[in-house]
Amino acid sequence: MSDNINNNDEFDDKDEYEKYCYLCRRPESTAGPFITLHENIHICNSCMQKSFDSFNSNSMQYIDLSKMPNINMSQFMPFDDIPKSQKVKKKKKKEKAEEVPLTMENIPAPHKIKAMLDEYVVGQEYAKKAISVAVYNHYKRVITNSMDDIEIEKSNMLMLGPTGSGKTYLVKTIAKLLHVPLAITDATTLTEAGYIGDDVESILSKLLAVADNDVEKAERGIVFIDEIDKIAKKKETHSRDVSGESVQQGLLKILEGAEVEVPVGSGSKNAMTPTTTMNTRNILFICGGAFPDIENIIKQRLNKQSSMGFNADLKDKHDNNDNIIKEVTNEDLRDFGMIPEFLGRLPVLFTLDALDKDMYIKILKEPKNAILKQYKKLLALDEVDLQFDDSAYEAIADLALEKKTGARALRAIIEKFMLDIMYEIPRDDSIGRVTITGDYINKKGSPIIELRGTNL
Ligand code: ADP
Repeated sequence: MSDNINNNDEFDDKDEYEKYCYLCRRPESTAGPFITLHENIHICNSCMQKSFDSFNSNSMQYIDLSKMPNINMSQFMPFDDIPKSQKVKKKKKKEKAEEVPLTMENIPAPHKIKAMLDEYVVGQEYAKKAISVAVYNHYKRVITNSMDDIEIEKSNMLMLGPTGSGKTYLVKTIAKLLHVPLAITDATTLTEAGYIGDDVESILSKLLAVADNDVEKAERGIVFIDEIDKIAKKKETHSRDVSGESVQQGLLKILEGAEVEVPVGSGSKNAMTPTTTMNTRNILFICGGAFPDIENIIKQRLNKQSSMGFNADLKDKHDNNDNIIKEVTNEDLRDFGMIPEFLGRLPVLFTLDALDKDMYIKILKEPKNAILKQYKKLLALDEVDLQFDDSAYEAIADLALEKKTGARALRAIIEKFMLDIMYEIPRDDSIGRVTITGDYINKKGSPIIELRGTNL
């Protein structure tokens, strides 16, 4: 019985994965039938022939290796360093049932994408609208392969917003809703090829890994590059700018659409890593960053404009505008240190708002997967009703505001006080309801405990 199972696995494996030549790294689909020396070491005919030729250029006659049977030579050849697997997944022919590929019929219209986002992401109305339209246009372009006389421009995006305002969360949610693979990467880890750090191809390797090494699927995925402001051009630098301007230069070709050789299963190219070719034409790139102090650049520009001509009396009126970031333009981003060619490849530009107390409270209460809802559900499994009164929501939001790390702080605060609750409550079967209060959050009191039966 167990033999049968193994055989089936083996069959699936063969069907979906492709072998790579141990020497020249070409896949079997390109290099022809392989000779198997060990279950994980395969050599193509031409490499094998070249090896024989170089061993013995005179005395050995030509052997037609394609006519040789597959032989398992591991019993004769002791390899010390046998790779665990030498296969990558072949391009998929048919999608799994639950992963229906996007088509013109099933791609949700922008208002539907936004409605789905509304269930998870609080506020950020403009950003949700902008991303819904851009994603819809992008996939429409991919599905219809619009290559007529008017080629539809790629909708790569650049979003600006303070830390913890939901940039990553927005992209994660949209990728999940559309069932497309998403790779998240941090621009600070990237350096120019050849220097210590990851080169830009590593981003595509990540995407390929998320797509189970399925090249076709990865080629329709989304890449989110966070902390993009960290690769701004350095001002007045005398050394080579390997992690700023050169990385922006390096990203240009993949943002636009290019055939890129990508290492499979590893971030770096080396002789032992198989590679595959990926086309980035249909990959949607979204870059995000906080762009600290860009407000000053915007204010300077606006004040300069106001001080000219009729508006001269309005000079300095922008100094008190808290939402000045919304006025950002490519010109400001150029002044910040982003190169024009890079900005040109990110045509969709929008900003996210800084979160205020009301938004924090909404984030605690409203999203479908709100963290407090998750705790409620966990305790409901123990038949305990977990409640939060209004003062508790306010207290959590106040603590989060103090931390200045955006909504990310909420989880840390909640996890801290919920630890005791989750530890103590299941210990006592008689507890039926627990109400968390602001005093408990501020360590001035205990939660209100009600016993089962009587008053519930
Ligand atoms: P950043 O803008 O720094 O990328 P994140 O998207 O990583 O911030 O946000 C951190 C966490 O905060 C998210 O995982 C999410 O749970 C929560 N969060 C942030 N903004 C929102 C929002 N607008 N609505 C709901 N949850 C949010």
